[in-house]
Amino acid sequence: MTVTPQLHPVYVIGGGPGGLAVAAALRARGVRAVVVEKADAVGDSWRHHYDRLRLHATRRLSALPGLKMPRSFGRWVARADVVRYLETYAEFHDLEVVTGVEVFRVERDGEHWTLHATGGRRLTGSAVVVATGFNHTPRLPDWPGLGSYEREPGREFVHASAYRNPKPYADKDVLVVGVGNTGAEIAADLAEGGAARVRLAVRTPPFIVRRSTLGWPSQRNGVLVRRLPVGLVDRLTRLLGRFITADLSAYGIPRPEGGLYSRARAGAIPVQDVGLVAAVRAGKVEPVAAVESFDGGEVVLADGSRIAPDAVIAATGYRRALEPLLGHLGVVDERGRPAVTGARCPREAPGLYFTGFTNPISGMFREMALDAERIARRIAKQRR
Ligand SMILES: Cc1cc2nc3c(=O)[nH]c(=O)nc-3n(C[C@H](O)[C@H](O)[C@H](O)COP(=O)(O)OP(=O)(O)OC[C@H]3O[C@@H](n4cnc5c(N)ncnc54)[C@H](O)[C@@H]3O)c2cc1C
Repeated sequence: MTVTPQLHPVYVIGGGPGGLAVAAALRARGVRAVVVEKADAVGDSWRHHYDRLRLHATRRLSALPGLKMPRSFGRWVARADVVRYLETYAEFHDLEVVTGVEVFRVERDGEHWTLHATGGRRLTGSAVVVATGFNHTPRLPDWPGLGSYEREPGREFVHASAYRNPKPYADKDVLVVGVGNTGAEIAADLAEGGAARVRLAVRTPPFIVRRSTLGWPSQRNGVLVRRLPVGLVDRLTRLLGRFITADLSAYGIPRPEGGLYSRARAGAIPVQDVGLVAAVRAGKVEPVAAVESFDGGEVVLADGSRIAPDAVIAATGYRRALEPLLGHLGVVDERGRPAVTGARCPREAPGLYFTGFTNPISGMFREMALDAERIARRIAKQRR
């Protein structure tokens, strides 16, 4: 492959699946792309996720541009295989990846972009693709009294990003806070892995869907309905009811309000069941009310009750943390997300692209693969 020499490359910030996919798609079009990654290797997020994690999306629907995932990875790809795939992906496409360099600030500089990075570096790019991740910085609610719980002897508090496996929690009483995909899976993992008691604090009851029904992955439903009107999909999922969603109302998790798709569009994607439903039905995971505050060694719940778990794992999500990097450009909305993503650039910032900042029910890897092609096509076209 011949890559046309250009004065300034396209800089891609972040060497996760989103950034690598864009770099590969650009290279395939003869555009030089340099990936700048703050960690010492690509796929850093996946190196640190919990041990039992598998892609919730199927192998076939998760491949990035130009390289399939091997069949030997199976249908639901294990975390370590995702890391192997990303390493191979960068090698296979001969991507230019600079590791150990963090970008702190991006500035418009006439026709170009200047990236301020580790070691006083100033990198000049003809365009910039921001792929720093939807799950960038752990988010914790501002719970009153949290410090008092952490200071109590024998108590442990961690964000889910620090959870690896149930071993340290053997024979312990654990409270998992938050029932998104991560909280649901960690609760099931703890219940299967020997914790003495597992409770799950639920604020907003989620839609819980089967990972697949009669061999048909629920992600495919997400792909099929993606472009349909939201109200129609909400009605369809209500009609299909128990076929695709689990009802745990008899076990303390009320049926969710609103429609599945409208909730997903607002950011609450359904929880894929990888063990929670069975664990709740078997009494191995006990749903409890949302956490209101902490008081010494106790946790105060929204229904007024108090519990005293040995450990609390907060599966309360992440922030995009784009403000220090880009806040001064006026391209980040009030929720901390870029105003536009994919092949569109913010009006005030031509040449600045974002990938990986949407969370569609059709799967993020799939979305990032599609966005990579769109962004690369657009950048290549503008160079002609
Ligand atoms: C527990 C969990 C399970 C998930 N499971 C699935 C799934 O099954 N299917 C699916 O499609 N999606 C899944 N996702 C969502 C999403 O696909 C992954 O988070 C995916 O890794 C996102 O890719 P990304 O490249 O956008 O971000 P990341 O993988 O987070 O990569 C961002 C990279 O940017 C680097 N970086 C950040 N800031 C800077 C900076 N300023 N300068 C330089 N480098 C920087 C980081 O070190 C990181 O390597 C999951 C997410 C989580 C948290």
